[in-house]
Amino acid sequence: MSVKKHDLVIIGGGVAGYSAGIYAGRDNLDTVLLEKEISGGTTGITDLVDNYPGFPEGIKGPELMERMKKQGEKFGVKIDEFVEVQEIHPNDSKIMLSTNQGDYESSAVIISTGGHPRKLGLESEKRLSGRGVSYCATCDGPFYKGEEIAVIGGGDSAVQEALYLTEFADKVSIVHRRDELRAVSSLAEKAFANDKIEIIWDSVVDEILGDEEVDGLRLKNVKTDETSQIDVKGVFIFIGWIPNTGFVKDLLKLDDQNRIVVNEHMETSVPRIYAAGDVISKKHRQIATAVGEATNAALNASEKIHD
Ligand code: NAP
Repeated sequence: MSVKKHDLVIIGGGVAGYSAGIYAGRDNLDTVLLEKEISGGTTGITDLVDNYPGFPEGIKGPELMERMKKQGEKFGVKIDEFVEVQEIHPNDSKIMLSTNQGDYESSAVIISTGGHPRKLGLESEKRLSGRGVSYCATCDGPFYKGEEIAVIGGGDSAVQEALYLTEFADKVSIVHRRDELRAVSSLAEKAFANDKIEIIWDSVVDEILGDEEVDGLRLKNVKTDETSQIDVKGVFIFIGWIPNTGFVKDLLKLDDQNRIVVNEHMETSVPRIYAAGDVISKKHRQIATAVGEATNAALNASEKIHD
């Protein structure tokens, strides 16, 4: 298979990847975006985005991603889906990338591979995954019309998705390991005000119950060690993200949570390799921050390539 040559390779088709693509394409860089699945990233499976400027009523995550994709394509970005980058080999002037679909070569690379959901780590979670255990409310929420379900976690994702799930379920129990939500107060207040949401504080999942399908949870109160049971047909787990950096762990400098360390120009520890979005070491993981970082990365990569 011949090597596919481009000015810029972007790895990852979420918000950061498309934003970088829009700027690189508009700057006349021959740009390819590689995505290991179907592009869209985390936003593509988020129900409502209500904090991205310009959409006062909010916008559905999949629609926002479709619009970004169209905008990238308008500027000539090529999108290669189901291409998984396995290794990156920089040399003096070019960067070689080996993938499951052959080799690519470029002058610069932007990594925007985001992350994947953290798991509870229970055997029952694995066994019942896709049988009532889910990590995606937009994908699976509609299956639970009129049912009782649980959401695990207390961050923005857990609370936002719990609110969305009340559109279908009769009751949503949020199980959180502390006595205070991590989610921003605007989301927390919406949850407190929603009659369909109950919050079970100071509790963790001890076991997900059910033979063929989920039919309940055994919970443990972390303060009293007491266990209790709730009957639910589905459990949605939103307990954080693990960055997708396995393929660069020996190449780039990572932080203690395996996220890519970048400087203010979005440069990684290796010249001409940039990173942006949820995959980098940073505090706020937002669509707006990912767009800004990706813009910065693309403009800096473009300057370097045109040098
Ligand atoms: P997160 O902020 O890391 O929250 C993870 C939650 O899961 C925390 O409440 C944490 O509890 C809990 N948790 C972690 N490990 C656990 C375990 N083993 N068992 C039980 N609970 C566990 O993750 P996130 O909610 O996915 O958010 C990720 C980032 O995306 C954040 O920066 C967030 O602001 C952003 N985000 C923003 C929006 C928005 O702006 N609308 C929406 C979604 C996500 P503790 O609180 O005790 O640590």
